[in-house]
Amino acid sequence: MTVDVLVEIKAKNIDKTFTYHVPKQLETKIKIGIRVLVPFSNRKLEGFIMKINNNQKYDYELKDIIDVIDDKQVLNDELLQLGKYMSKKTLSTLISCYQTMLPTALKAKQGKKINKKYVSYLILNNDTIVKGKQLEIVNLIKNKGKILKKEANLISSSSTKTLLDKQIIKEIKEEVYRTDYEDIKKETNVVLTSDQKKVISQIKLDKYEPYLLHGVTGSGKTEVYINIIKKVLEQKKEAIVLVPEISLTPQLIEIFKKRFGKIVAILHSALSDGEKYDEWRKIVNKEVAIVIGARSAIFAPFENLGVIIIDEEHSDNYKQDNNPRYNTIDMALYRAKKNNCPLILGSATPSIVSYTRAKNNIYKLLELKKRINNNPPLITIVDMQKSMKEGSRYFSQILIDKIKDRLLKHEQVIILLNRRGYTTISSCSNCGYTDKCPNCDIPLVYHKDTNKMRCHYCGYTKNKLTNCPKCREKINDFGYGTQRLEEELYNITKARIVRMDVDSTSKKGAHAKIIKDFENGNYDILLGTQIVSKGLDFPKVTLVGVINGDASLNSPDYRSAEHTFELLNQVSGRSGRSNLLGEVIIQTFNPNHYSIVCASNNDYESFYKEELKIRKLLKYPPYYNLLTLRISGKDSDLIDKEGKKIVSYLNTKLKSKAIILGPSMESLPKLNNVYRMQIILKYKKTNDIIEDVSFIVYKYRSNRNVNVEICFH
Ligand code: ADP
Ligand code: ZN
Repeated sequence: MTVDVLVEIKAKNIDKTFTYHVPKQLETKIKIGIRVLVPFSNRKLEGFIMKINNNQKYDYELKDIIDVIDDKQVLNDELLQLGKYMSKKTLSTLISCYQTMLPTALKAKQGKKINKKYVSYLILNNDTIVKGKQLEIVNLIKNKGKILKKEANLISSSSTKTLLDKQIIKEIKEEVYRTDYEDIKKETNVVLTSDQKKVISQIKLDKYEPYLLHGVTGSGKTEVYINIIKKVLEQKKEAIVLVPEISLTPQLIEIFKKRFGKIVAILHSALSDGEKYDEWRKIVNKEVAIVIGARSAIFAPFENLGVIIIDEEHSDNYKQDNNPRYNTIDMALYRAKKNNCPLILGSATPSIVSYTRAKNNIYKLLELKKRINNNPPLITIVDMQKSMKEGSRYFSQILIDKIKDRLLKHEQVIILLNRRGYTTISSCSNCGYTDKCPNCDIPLVYHKDTNKMRCHYCGYTKNKLTNCPKCREKINDFGYGTQRLEEELYNITKARIVRMDVDSTSKKGAHAKIIKDFENGNYDILLGTQIVSKGLDFPKVTLVGVINGDASLNSPDYRSAEHTFELLNQVSGRSGRSNLLGEVIIQTFNPNHYSIVCASNNDYESFYKEELKIRKLLKYPPYYNLLTLRISGKDSDLIDKEGKKIVSYLNTKLKSKAIILGPSMESLPKLNNVYRMQIILKYKKTNDIIEDVSFIVYKYRSNRNVNVEICFH
């Protein structure tokens, strides 16, 4: 027997399949999709078995595989195929795709090995008469059948040892999961609304079909998901539920645990590698039928999928931002098709591209137009230019009045400021010197809690300057972030405020604790960055205040208006979700911008129409496809030179088929001491350009000084 093994040749950044001979004693263990250890030059490499060959003749001598690593398939047939699809779609090596699909603990070439976890139990071996502590232990075992070894040791570890030595009791080991949690399943009786029922009846199981569920915030999408999954379980099939960032959705996880109990696995970014491995094994061992997780959970090794659900489908988190840069929706479409099952993309603010697909009948459009409580929030735009002239600084008078009103009524408030830190720029008013990150060349942000200046990209920190290093004049601070706003808000209201941003949620479980505390009424105001806008459901929140509604408009991204509408709509959706009427105040310097006006009218359709006009004019998706070639390296002259070379090559090849822009510096031209340039291609058909673009990507794979990455938008 011989096998074809896929290995990674790191130095050249390529992967390749080699044929090895299988020694007789390993033959029974050989399966496609398991990992094996093979000799390669003078090293040992881990690789995946791609093919098994019997009775094949070779006219050269083959090396033997050294060992078999897995007893069960780590990549099932469907996932092996999916990896090939991903590799083609993202122009990445096949092995990097397989690595991405596996939990860290199983990645070939992992340095430290993660093992299954076992717990020791004691059972009775023979019934001999014993006395004292030994009798106590034996009786306990008789009562319970088996006990934890730990329990026996608590009574007396020396007696336990004696009993074991005399073989009166026996130790057995059982495999356990590090992530065993309490079963909190409870029956609930939710009466579905007629809108929910209608949507559910439109979703056909046992048939491949992608759906776009466009449901306004608070329209009860979760209940639709749950009901579809119930039907899928009745058919003995499995479900994958994806959320943008699992640590941000403790409320959703809680709901699923309550409804489905122990058959839910949760692939949480905050889990340790061992815990992730165990959740993954629950799937392989068929002990769970539902997986909730962030994008990588799309690779859950289920074999009989009945539905895939992608909640908040517009989120950028569904696109991996390092190689392989796959789009989760592409992967989901592939798996749904293979499994002949529906894919449900849910959002209150679908991406422009997804909504266009729905309009073109590529996705079937389902709608929930009304909130469960039938009460959309009342949204007011405040022109901050005017308001500042009247003397306000952070908060407009109307927002302050409304906050105070809610405090009196014992209702709750959410405040959004999409900027963390205390002050955001430290510079010298005399000579203009600005304190910047030496690695990234962007202004450092002052954090008052740690009394340090910090780079928000690479994490570099240093002490605060008091005087300008150039002219010795005093350094001044400008701008403000959530930390400063929290202080100001406290001075005005004396309310109980809790801040939620990257800095206050870095510890494991901190985020869930803030949410629980706020839910329990331990705070009046939740203040934070965009984290506060996502998926939260607090019945007592009746006011949402947005401090800088236009912040995301200034980002150099063709989707900046889309992101602004999304953020404002999502955060507005946190207000008035139960029986109390909700209000929203959006402070902005661009009160007439269509993304803000449409968000204030809760009017997705008008926003979509306006946005399409601009996309058409500027030749952006959905009218054109867009890809970026990112050229980076430590030597800025070299990447400039190579960038120009690539553009001139592309111009000779693709002039008539694509619009080629660049090379230009990226919006953050230097990150972590790496210089970054970009080339942008706008094109109609992927087939027209893929060959020439692939040529570039492959050509630079083994170049150590210039890194070329491709990103399809
Ligand atoms: P969405 O995800 O669409 O923003 P949710 O699924 O969070 O909305 O639902 C909004 C609120 O309405 C939640 O508090 C949920 O428990 C409640 N809800 C959903 N469906 C029903 C129903 N049929 N009857 C009563 N309450 C419901
Ligand atoms: Zn930095």
